[in-house]
Amino acid sequence: MRGAESDAMNDRHETPADASSPRAPAPFALPRARRYVLREARVLGRSLPAPIGPLDFDGFALVDILVDEGAIAKIAPAGVVDFGEPPQAAMSGRIVLPLFVDVHTHIDKGHIWRRKRNPVGDFPSALNATIEDRTANWTAADVAARMEFSLRCAHAYGTTALRTHVDSVGAQTRISWPVLAEARERWRGRIELQASPLFSIELALDDSHMADVEAMLDAHGTGILGASTRMVPELHQGLRVLFDLAERKGFELDLHVDESSDPAARALKVVADMAIERRFRRPILVGHCCSLALQEDDERKKTIDAVARAGLSVVSLPMCNMFLQDRVAGRTPRWRGVTALHELKAAGVNAMIASDNARDPFYAYGDLDMMEVWREGVRILHLDYPFADWAPAVSAAPAKAMGLDLGSLHEGGRADMILTRARDFPELLARPQADRIVVRNGEASTAKPPDYAELDALEGLAP
Ligand SMILES: [Zn+2]
Repeated sequence: MRGAESDAMNDRHETPADASSPRAPAPFALPRARRYVLREARVLGRSLPAPIGPLDFDGFALVDILVDEGAIAKIAPAGVVDFGEPPQAAMSGRIVLPLFVDVHTHIDKGHIWRRKRNPVGDFPSALNATIEDRTANWTAADVAARMEFSLRCAHAYGTTALRTHVDSVGAQTRISWPVLAEARERWRGRIELQASPLFSIELALDDSHMADVEAMLDAHGTGILGASTRMVPELHQGLRVLFDLAERKGFELDLHVDESSDPAARALKVVADMAIERRFRRPILVGHCCSLALQEDDERKKTIDAVARAGLSVVSLPMCNMFLQDRVAGRTPRWRGVTALHELKAAGVNAMIASDNARDPFYAYGDLDMMEVWREGVRILHLDYPFADWAPAVSAAPAKAMGLDLGSLHEGGRADMILTRARDFPELLARPQADRIVVRNGEASTAKPPDYAELDALEGLAP
């Protein structure tokens, strides 16, 4: 960048000595202008609507991106188009990504760890601890404050759409859904927020419970119905209630499925078969499906075939699964807890990864950062060889599952991007990308993840 055009909106770490060195990299910053060019940006060929120029080993194209009044006005092969006078940022081959889409979260549960820890780190303890905390503390104000905290994290890290599950049991149903609707309204234009109710499938047989859920979805929902499925005697009947209601109302489905290390957990096949049998046409997203990875090969293949035929999308939650699954005190875990995501994708299933829980009894860590999910997902699930095949798992694939036209960079679209210093996948995934520049409507975002201390006023969360 030159002279006045190099007026950065972001912190710069280069010293004057660096800048004067003949080998110094170009400053990593955005011009302060409504019309500017990102020169020599590395963008995945599959993040573009049509191939632009030759792709490198990792599948990246080298392009110039003209941003004008918050939109992407032009994407052209690097150096081919003369854009005239607008300020330029030399990306020098650094990677530019579309914003992230986080399709499976629990922002009503998040950030309660200080007052309700998981005593041993396994799934039953997580469930019990969360129910205790929910009963004791989840007022509208408490849920609203923690949801806001999570959304601010997701926003700062570059997420543009997010789906959460909302615990919908007993009195909580009528407390949480109005809070969700308010958050959705407040974040409109920054994060597209979708939500699915969450309750154990047995409750689908309770008419008054389902009346509550239906009323809340009518008043505050986003057209998605869901539940947590387990191998209980009520599984088939409960699912039939959900499919009936979804068909009657035109709802999509979003189900927790087989979050278990027991190979006998086979609810996924039941869901897929029912969708096929009923010719259910609306989208269905299933999450977890951990036990699928532990079944016999022929059993797993039959289930995956059914999932593909039914057109289900599958989201794996690698960080949470690795935390909860195969945890036995005093014994080293023998598997990583994740579903057979490669086999599902090879069968044509829309496959993706997402955050799941953050700092609650189901997952002690997490910060709604999809860069972390990607980075960890690559390690846990081997989402490399080739890396590019799995890059859409944090953007375009979940966007498709949410029915949103997001996860790509294209002319005429909003100039929403993540600028990184990385030039290839190992550089991208080796570091947490804490210095990424999140660009929204063409401007560098100044949003930062909130301070944990902001939650201290909530019941039981003081230091
Ligand atoms: Zn979940």
